[in-house]
Amino acid sequence: MTLIDTHCHLDFPVLFKKHECLIENSINIGIRAIIIPAILAKRWDALINFTKKYPDFLYFALGLHPYFIAEHSQQDLMLLSGYLKQIKPIAIGEIGLDYYDNNLDKSKQHHFFEQQINIANMHQLPVIIHARKAHHDVIAILKKNNFKYGGVIHAFNGSFEQANEYMKLDFRFGVGGMITHPHAKHIRELAVNLPLESIVLETDAPDMPMYNQVTSYNSPENLLLIAQKLAKMRGISLEELGKQTTLNVVSTFKINIKAS
Ligand SMILES: [Zn+2]
Repeated sequence: MTLIDTHCHLDFPVLFKKHECLIENSINIGIRAIIIPAILAKRWDALINFTKKYPDFLYFALGLHPYFIAEHSQQDLMLLSGYLKQIKPIAIGEIGLDYYDNNLDKSKQHHFFEQQINIANMHQLPVIIHARKAHHDVIAILKKNNFKYGGVIHAFNGSFEQANEYMKLDFRFGVGGMITHPHAKHIRELAVNLPLESIVLETDAPDMPMYNQVTSYNSPENLLLIAQKLAKMRGISLEELGKQTTLNVVSTFKINIKAS
């Protein structure tokens, strides 16, 4: 069986300090790869060096996360273009728009999101998108900039109409631990009804706690529980879910992993 965690912040201190053990456990339960999206320019070098230690298992995306918008500068965007001349991340991310927190400067977010979409277009890279209460504007910016390389909408919680818009733009949807929460009705409905070909798995560790989680942080090993839950909800085998979601990851990020 093959499972891929398409969104895990394994470089955050709470996970990084025990990453050797987490990676070993993850491999033992069938996790074949982990994708780590970036959040801040000052952490890119550490992230790149970390993934080098686990080739063909850890993959990185590079980008400027909207939640940390106050910390990004115009120079960071130039730096991103500079990095892309030398190294090839599997995607630009984590980028997007976050309207959930009113303290985040909206127009600065628009600027950074749009610039990074243009950079992704220029380098023919997919994107990993963080969007909270902002799908309308995210879709508008993708269309306005004629973005062609698709990607993943992380922790998607929009409408089915918005899902259709994203699918037309070659996007897939990250499904994670929220489906284990009985009250998360809409997310569970999406997870059951979106086409299997449009779904990828993610933990968002150390964030997005599982239902009844014992530890104070989420961990990549929970991907197996998420996959088991989703397979059961959709009435398919864990193997079938693992195989199709792996094919989806390979198709989105062009990484060379055999689905089994
Ligand atoms: Zn994230």
